[in-house]
Amino acid sequence: MQAEWLIHNVNIATMQPGNKPYGTIVDGLLAMANGKIAWVGPRSDAPTFETTNTIDGNGGWLTPGLIDCHTHLIYGGNRAAEFEQRQQGIPYAEISANGGGINSTVIATRNASIGELMESAQQRLACLQQEGVTTVEIKSGYGLDLETELRMLRIARALGKQLPITIKTTYLGAHAVPPEFKDRPDDYIHFVCNEVLPAVATENLADAVDLFCEEIGFTIEQCTKIIDRARQSGLPVKGHVEQLSDMGGAKMVAAANGLSVDHLEYLPASDIATLKQHNTVAVLLPAAFYYLREKQLPPIDAMRKAQLSMAVATDCNPGSAPVASLLSAMNLACVLFGLTPEEALRGTTINAAQALGIKKKGMLASGFDADLLLWQIDSPAELSYAINMHRPKQIWIAGQHV
Ligand SMILES: [Zn+2]
Repeated sequence: MQAEWLIHNVNIATMQPGNKPYGTIVDGLLAMANGKIAWVGPRSDAPTFETTNTIDGNGGWLTPGLIDCHTHLIYGGNRAAEFEQRQQGIPYAEISANGGGINSTVIATRNASIGELMESAQQRLACLQQEGVTTVEIKSGYGLDLETELRMLRIARALGKQLPITIKTTYLGAHAVPPEFKDRPDDYIHFVCNEVLPAVATENLADAVDLFCEEIGFTIEQCTKIIDRARQSGLPVKGHVEQLSDMGGAKMVAAANGLSVDHLEYLPASDIATLKQHNTVAVLLPAAFYYLREKQLPPIDAMRKAQLSMAVATDCNPGSAPVASLLSAMNLACVLFGLTPEEALRGTTINAAQALGIKKKGMLASGFDADLLLWQIDSPAELSYAINMHRPKQIWIAGQHV
């Protein structure tokens, strides 16, 4: 058989389902051809390959490329000054009244040039890439007007073409009510549904549509309008739900066959069956929980018992999670939410792929995209155990060594 790359003397965390932790193959061999995984299995079972590139894995580990399935990493400015004020004891209401909070990011993003937005997003993407992230989801939602929302999504699409990384884009119009619609949320939802969303769909700028269902966000009724309009446009939905209170948002998104429901600290265990029934992934965002010093934990045990797919993401954003480290998010998911290291790694590989509706990534199996990482570690648990100690030694994306 022909292969462009052959990796041997390596253990493989395939993340395939079954009862082996991490879907492990000890002393494995993996062959890549035409951007795909051509063969993976125990070395002793491997056919003979003709190849020009043989890599000795030196007894390390291969994992799938990591997938960050929830980020807001395109934005103007930052909120360090606000963070500083909060740490100095200034109440949030006062900071917000003085122009802080999400509106300050909306203004900074509207005022930023395309070049400025591209450059700062690239810097944050580079941090993720160094850790082995090969697929990233990026949301809009800091423009809120037609022009800036389209600009954010066009930049996200452009980054995916320029860089060796797969980018999935999500339109998040229902993120906040912009200043020009102050106290008129229903009018803003009408604008999202009838002006922005159709333009996004026409230009094929989004792979999904997101919303923020919360008392400080949008009501079930308003979100339902977004969901209906997204589905009319043929776009799958996902939602920021049950982060600060139980609004019934997760059930609503799942019932619309939503790809994922994200945050979930206040999800009642009784709603988990609905998520399971619709194959909706529970995306955990422990960095936001950490930054906001939340106390209410998502119902991890009940999700685990229901065998619900759980994913872990950075939520990289300037307000509640200025975090461009998916490995750190895995550690936080273990320490704060009680995930096992295997659950954390499934959460940033196969389950994260499911949260994005991607079929052939996040697992090392023949026919899957050859997005993979070689680590010099003794066990995959090390990736969740340590903070800032590990970087992949080698990275392949679609069979290309990067
Ligand atoms: Zn978010």
